[in-house]
Amino acid sequence: MTHDRKAVVVGGGIGGLTAAVALRRRGWDATVLERAASLEPVGAGLALAPNAVRALDSIGPGDPVRDLAALQGPVGLRRPDGRWLVRGDASMVGPEPTVLLHRPQLVDLLRGALDDGAVRLGTTVTGVDPGGPAERATVRVRARDDEEAELSADVVVAADGIDSPVRTALFPGHPGPVYAGVTAWRFVTPEPVAVEPAETWGRGSVVGLTPLADGRVYCYLTATLPEGTRFTDEIGELQRRFGHWHPPLRALLDGLDPAALLHHDLRWLKEPLPRYDVGRVALLGDAAHAMPPNLGQGGAQAIEDAVVLAARLRGTPSGGDLVSPALAAYTAARKGRTQRVARMSAQVGAATTWRSPLLVSARDLGMRAVGRWVLPRAARRLDWILDWHPPA
Ligand SMILES: Cc1cc2nc3c(=O)[nH]c(=O)nc-3n(C[C@H](O)[C@H](O)[C@H](O)COP(=O)(O)OP(=O)(O)OC[C@H]3O[C@@H](n4cnc5c(N)ncnc54)[C@H](O)[C@@H]3O)c2cc1C
Repeated sequence: MTHDRKAVVVGGGIGGLTAAVALRRRGWDATVLERAASLEPVGAGLALAPNAVRALDSIGPGDPVRDLAALQGPVGLRRPDGRWLVRGDASMVGPEPTVLLHRPQLVDLLRGALDDGAVRLGTTVTGVDPGGPAERATVRVRARDDEEAELSADVVVAADGIDSPVRTALFPGHPGPVYAGVTAWRFVTPEPVAVEPAETWGRGSVVGLTPLADGRVYCYLTATLPEGTRFTDEIGELQRRFGHWHPPLRALLDGLDPAALLHHDLRWLKEPLPRYDVGRVALLGDAAHAMPPNLGQGGAQAIEDAVVLAARLRGTPSGGDLVSPALAAYTAARKGRTQRVARMSAQVGAATTWRSPLLVSARDLGMRAVGRWVLPRAARRLDWILDWHPPA
């Protein structure tokens, strides 16, 4: 396969790596530029919904992902005292399971599908000239202490995350991400722990416990706090907030290594972008449509974007004027869907942010009474997201 068409991918997250794998399979020479010195050194769990796994199937790593993943088995909803509000299994929420894996495993798989040298770490993109129908795009890069250098490319894929510098440069009037009102901590236990998978809803807080394939447990904890709230002793604060919740939370928090704890405010692009392409630049993943993680679809949509983008660029000759129409077709294929998923993600978390004891009691009573009936019906509202198939 010849690689005379050159793509530069800005960002080596899930979206950027998937884009590079997909483009290479379509005959492109794709190079990933990542400013960090290593890819995803500290990891959390990642739920990959069936739409994302199907997208990975279409470019190769679907089965290896399934081999590494835990299939979503039992699902349940609890109160902080441990009482079950709903207890069931994954068939309640859909015919195909969501798979759960350790994020760095997916990153390793994608990286392993690329040639040596296709990922340049420690390389920061400092500017992009989007070019146009008749001229290639230019990317300015700085690698560690080196001088700034320029690369030219038929296509630039901006997969540089929620704070995307490329988006800021191309859409200077866009307000950027806004806070969703919730902050989240995540960690993976160093050793296997026996837990029954469930989400536990408190007053303005949620805890999720999900076993990975090797028995370690992915735990996420959320709280409704003002944006930017940080604590000198983050683990101490988690023990204070969640240590009295049902077992084994206290034990998990007591043994936690601070270096294994991730803490992020949840933000999203509430103001949608008008398009995902400018000249020869295509934006994808969080750079294009960051969303709150309530539906577990941010990474999944980044993977879908990457696969669709590569499909639209298939057969596009180097140096010709067909890249811009292919990128416009990519925007047309992805904008409506991804922005609808983002809006829905922002809406579905509302009941978990309630703090009023009255509202919370009513919510819990309702879930106990009709949860087994409500959950499958709520899940059907996601069919249009989960039933997605990649382009042939
Ligand atoms: C708490 C939480 C839980 C989540 N759970 C799930 C889940 O279960 N399932 C799911 O599908 N999604 C989930 N998501 C969403 C998912 O993590 C993101 O949507 C996904 O990681 C976005 O990938 P990306 O490649 O677009 O961006 P990122 O992963 O942010 O990657 C961007 C990369 O670009 C690099 N970069 C930035 N600027 C430059 C530059 N100038 N030069 C070079 N490199 C640069 C960054 O270093 C980074 O590596 C969750 C998100 C959160 C916050």
